[in-house]
Amino acid sequence: MNIGVLALQGAFREHRIMLESLGCIVTEVRLPKHLEGLDGVIFPGGESTTIGKLMVHYDFIAALRDYHANGGAIFATCAGAILLATDIVGSDQPRLGLLEMRVKRNAFGRQVDSFETPLEVKGLSQTFPALFIRAPILESVGEGVEVLATFDSQIVLARKGRLLASSFHPELTADTRLHKFFLEQVVQPKAVSALA
Ligand code: GLN
Repeated sequence: MNIGVLALQGAFREHRIMLESLGCIVTEVRLPKHLEGLDGVIFPGGESTTIGKLMVHYDFIAALRDYHANGGAIFATCAGAILLATDIVGSDQPRLGLLEMRVKRNAFGRQVDSFETPLEVKGLSQTFPALFIRAPILESVGEGVEVLATFDSQIVLARKGRLLASSFHPELTADTRLHKFFLEQVVQPKAVSALA
């Protein structure tokens, strides 16, 4: 499977390493033309205002909307999830607005900027070690958006069709189950056997 990792800023190398360990061919997406032929794209964590400005600068907004409109899957982690949202509390920063949800940036407060916690995730039989780094919460989600995990009653993992968004950083742990879930259930359900 050909998977792209948006490589404008942030923790994209870790996604690349994890995807390669799962047998994917990985493209670092730095220009819209790199989206061609990709089965899925991952948006890494980082700084959403910076990534958003670079998306505008490199003409990614329309290109990524087209990519998704043509069936492209996206897994957006942390800052990436902010860029996917329709609403960002108190901010008019650039975004794609593809996933109907309201996100609140840096929502866990200064005293707990970063922490790891075992998370119950719908569809996983054992908890996932979720690492939150100055993470957003998905304050509310629109119709048809499935909530896959909550922490402290706040939504931290959600999915609609070919879009998956997490508040936390699965690429910074050794646990590949969410990347596998993305590849097997979101990108291309038919390709499950190719991954085994
Ligand atoms: N706090 C960052 C933002 O608002 C996100 C942090 C992250 O991606 N780890 O963009």
